[in-house]
Amino acid sequence: MGDDVTNRSVVSRARAVIPGGAQTGLRAQAYDFGEIAFSGAAGATLEAVDGEVFTDYHLAFGPIVLGHGHPPVDEAVTNTIDEGVLYGTATTPLEVEVAERLVDLVPSAEQVNFCNSGTEATYHAIRLARAYTGNDRVIKFEGCYHGWHDYVDVSVYPPQERVGKRHPESDGMLPEAVEHTEVLPFNDPGALEDAFEEFDDVAAVICEPIPHSVGCLLPEEGFLETLREVTAENDVPLIFDEVITGFRHSARGMQHEFGVTPDLTCLAKAMGNGYPIAAVCGRENLMAQAGGDNTSGVVISGTYSGHPVGLAAARETLRLLETEPVVEEISALGERYREGLEGLLADHGIEGRAVGYGSVFSPQFGVTGEPRNYEDVLGLDEERFAEFARGMRERGHFFTPNPYKRQHLSWAHGERVFETYLADADAVLGSLT
Ligand code: PLP
Repeated sequence: MGDDVTNRSVVSRARAVIPGGAQTGLRAQAYDFGEIAFSGAAGATLEAVDGEVFTDYHLAFGPIVLGHGHPPVDEAVTNTIDEGVLYGTATTPLEVEVAERLVDLVPSAEQVNFCNSGTEATYHAIRLARAYTGNDRVIKFEGCYHGWHDYVDVSVYPPQERVGKRHPESDGMLPEAVEHTEVLPFNDPGALEDAFEEFDDVAAVICEPIPHSVGCLLPEEGFLETLREVTAENDVPLIFDEVITGFRHSARGMQHEFGVTPDLTCLAKAMGNGYPIAAVCGRENLMAQAGGDNTSGVVISGTYSGHPVGLAAARETLRLLETEPVVEEISALGERYREGLEGLLADHGIEGRAVGYGSVFSPQFGVTGEPRNYEDVLGLDEERFAEFARGMRERGHFFTPNPYKRQHLSWAHGERVFETYLADADAVLGSLT
């Protein structure tokens, strides 16, 4: 790009050739505090083109669980590339090995199909469920994001007046797809029971065991169990979207921690520490529907599915998550961030809360108490969050300025960055009062 490459010049060129100047609207939110472009990442840090170095709490929306460029993972990938990049036919020992690991680790996994993104995984899961039941209607929960395809990109962030109604998140979505997506409040078992009374054409219930698209909603005692019971009674597949929770919160998925086994599970993000890899896995009788010859049964397809780069990263990442105290350590650190932030909010007399679970945390302003559903997140003070995010950015802490999103920790974060974060949060919160 030449010697005069700056944050500003890169973003200006991006705006000419990339809609909005970034690959997604959410990524473009990083420009809320001025043009910024990134040229490097290592461990817990992110380096901007202008040379500023930030502690990274964004972590690419969550996949980076070990730290950027964790050497054993990168070496595993490099070694795999040496053997060839893509075969795209039959199978490989690597693919079998990673599938076997998932079957060992994840309670619901009897068979596995790999793909490259969480969106593909939820799409495949829904197709498998529709084929199995012969039904069309998918039940999801308000505030849960399951990817951008038409079957699920409904009522993720509905405005207040659209709460309780189906809200397509994008223009250009197929109305019939939206109409076949039923949206229910999280943590309301009665609403689920009523929906099964009302509709006899339910194909699937899809749910994040801990919805993180709105910071963090923890399932109340018995809620996931009710999902399991009601779907089992009706022989409708229960899909757990563990794209965030799988592996970041437990090497065996949150289904293992909660003791609730779904029929199908979607995995991605932390599974590959930043390399593109995802999977749909589940009960053999559901997954086997995809075992045909592409002319019958359920078609699951993809030129890059089971790509050796993602699989090599996943094999090494899963090995580390299983054998090292990664989840334990990052979760303990997450607890300290939440407690630290709660303490600072109280010290400064600022209304707010620090929600989260494990290595995920989110300061939310203008709201108090434990959020149990999407409505409890509405009404948070977006401006105050923006002021906080701006102050923290100026002091070298990077996270997306979206108040509904979350911050993440990796194994490369530690005591020193925690102390700095807290001291800087103290100063920034002090300047807000
Ligand atoms: N499911 C959940 C819970 C997610 O958070 C995301 C992405 O943030 C997705 C699915 C979609 O994954 P991807 O962005 O890899 O398509």
